[in-house]
Amino acid sequence: MKKIILASNNKHKIEEIKAVLNCFEILSLKDIGFCDDIVEDANTFEGNALIKAKTILNFARNLEFDYILSDDSGLYVNALGGEPGVHSARYAGEHGNDDANRNKLLENLKNKNDRSAYFCCCLCLMNKDGNHEFFIGKTDGEILKENAGDTSFCYDCLFFSKDLKKSFGECSLEEKNSVSHRARALEKLKEKIC
Ligand code: IMP
Repeated sequence: MKKIILASNNKHKIEEIKAVLNCFEILSLKDIGFCDDIVEDANTFEGNALIKAKTILNFARNLEFDYILSDDSGLYVNALGGEPGVHSARYAGEHGNDDANRNKLLENLKNKNDRSAYFCCCLCLMNKDGNHEFFIGKTDGEILKENAGDTSFCYDCLFFSKDLKKSFGECSLEEKNSVSHRARALEKLKEKIC
């Protein structure tokens, strides 16, 4: 079985990716003993996904694996000119403060009629030589006025999926993986390496 090192500590991303790439052995950063913070200071998803993949390639050079896979993703809200975009994880300042990020989003959308939005996911697949390819997936929806469902993965509970007619917070893993930005990018990647 081919081995992929997943350059992420986000347990939701790991769960979603593992469910789609079920014909690979997936190693997490914890599995390979990487515990540093990666500074993601590019201003595009591609740039940040590449930073993560390169950082992990440097760390893992002597380990046995076939690919490094990184995911940089975020939420684009049309009425906010695409915000929070690449800043999704730290929209309200502190990285990963989901409550603060959601509150800022709701506050900024208070007087807007257009609540349309989309999630975008950029995957970077890198081999041991550092050769890499990007795979992009998108999914459309609307931003709700209050949380609906599970609040554990940032904007999921505010994102009403156009395809599923409910929020991602109200979906099972299988349902989210049938339409999500991440799953759509993963399907393209699978065509390449399966
Ligand atoms: P990254 O880990 O630096 O790529 O940051 C991604 C951020 O975008 C997450 O912390 C969330 O705020 C947001 N995001 C990306 N994908 C999703 C998703 O599937 N559900 C909810 N929030 C997401």
